[in-house]
Amino acid sequence: MTVLDLIRPEIRTMRPYRSAQFAAGFARLNANENPWRPPGDSTAAGLNWYPEPRPFELAAALAAHYGVAPDQVLVTRGSSEAIDVLIRGFCRAGQDEVVICPPTFGMYETYAQIQAASIRRVPLRREAGYSLDVARILAEWQASSRLVFVCTPNNPTGNSVPVAAIRDLAAGLRDRGVVVVDAAYAEFAAADDALALLSEHDNVVVLRTLSKAMALAGVRCGALLANSDLAGLLSCVLPPYTFPTLCAEAVLRCLDPAQAGEWQRRIVEIKLERERLLPLLARISGIRRVWPSDANFILVEATDAPALVAAARAGGVLVRDFSWDPALPGSIRITVGTPAQNDQLLRAVGVTP
Ligand code: PMP
Repeated sequence: MTVLDLIRPEIRTMRPYRSAQFAAGFARLNANENPWRPPGDSTAAGLNWYPEPRPFELAAALAAHYGVAPDQVLVTRGSSEAIDVLIRGFCRAGQDEVVICPPTFGMYETYAQIQAASIRRVPLRREAGYSLDVARILAEWQASSRLVFVCTPNNPTGNSVPVAAIRDLAAGLRDRGVVVVDAAYAEFAAADDALALLSEHDNVVVLRTLSKAMALAGVRCGALLANSDLAGLLSCVLPPYTFPTLCAEAVLRCLDPAQAGEWQRRIVEIKLERERLLPLLARISGIRRVWPSDANFILVEATDAPALVAAARAGGVLVRDFSWDPALPGSIRITVGTPAQNDQLLRAVGVTP
């Protein structure tokens, strides 16, 4: 028994779709494409051609960026699609379950519902700063449990899960389950260390996205990182030709090491703004609590959250009201914006920046 045996049997045994052969230097008369470029096409590859079935150059660039091997990378349309691929790859509809730790990112539940996977909830321990309850996850694990989603830093609470806790979880679930570490906000955290777990435990999958620190939410690029056998099998779940040429070229431009200074500066700026905002948010009248944050957002608790959201809105700023969620009493999530946007928010809620 290995982690690969947890994959749905029909995926394990399926023959992947055979795409038209993709080789440079040949006239392409094998894929029913149009030989002429469309008007306004400024891409290097040409939008009249299908992209590669899997974007190899992009996978190699992402592998270099995250420090893993290219065959450990599955390029997805946002890390949202990676969540979908995992749930469809591991969970038989109506039979298997995923474990989530609320309050957390809502898409785990959405994709589980789409796949008709059951959902087992093991809440974060609010009284301990929304910490992960590793012992309870292990105690409640069932024969039908397949995946547990660990979001670190967690959306919307902002706290990181210590890597030691994830390591314990992976060791406890060896050959029994997969720990999916959703590290969408890792670049903003004090430690970005979950990737090291990939070489220690074959049942760890790490999800990364270019939507946050890399400022590429509009291109929809995520990366599922896993051991190469697992990545290879999960590749069967993802149809060919999913990643558009325009997006691949935009990501490659951004990942060019010559651009690194630019996005690293922005990450530093967001972190500085976050630290500036923390004490200022605490001065808002009716604020009960400002949670610490390792991400590019801050969770606050207010005596009257809807009134605060309305005040922000009247000042031209949208923030996210989570006070409908009993696990997040009176809570509002505020994304760290530009200094001017953050000041606009502060003024709207009655604080002089
Ligand atoms: N994971 C977490 C924790 C998120 O907050 C988000 C987006 N808000 C995603 C994954 C998905 O991001 P994307 O699909 O843009 O990569």
